[in-house]
Amino acid sequence: MNGLPVEPTSIRIGVMDSRRLEVVATLPARHLGVGERLWRAFKRMAVVSFVGLLCANMMILVLPVPHLHLCSLPLAIILGPLVGYLTWRDSALMGKSEIACPRCSEELVVPDQLPGWPARFNCEHCGIMVELKLAR
Ligand SMILES: [Zn+2]
Repeated sequence: MNGLPVEPTSIRIGVMDSRRLEVVATLPARHLGVGERLWRAFKRMAVVSFVGLLCANMMILVLPVPHLHLCSLPLAIILGPLVGYLTWRDSALMGKSEIACPRCSEELVVPDQLPGWPARFNCEHCGIMVELKLAR
């Protein structure tokens, strides 16, 4: 995954739930192929399913309440594919870069490997949710 080329990509920088003017900037992003997206989704799903099933089974040993097991087991089974699906929807990963916050104009560092689209993270200065979308 780290071997993927980082491509300069046109990205709209906005604020979540705001109709304010958005700024378009060129930022580095890795665009994931179908195989890559499947592999990431599968890895996440396997980890979440494993941990979920482990917790569900540990719980019945610690708390022998059948009702709890009846709820936690299906939850553990559903959670894995759900996380896998959410991971599948990520079609790109941001490269580490710097932008100006759309609200407070302070310098912001976009975290490396931030999944998109949209890619969201908080401004460390004013706390607002910054939203990065692919510009078309
Ligand atoms: Zn800010």
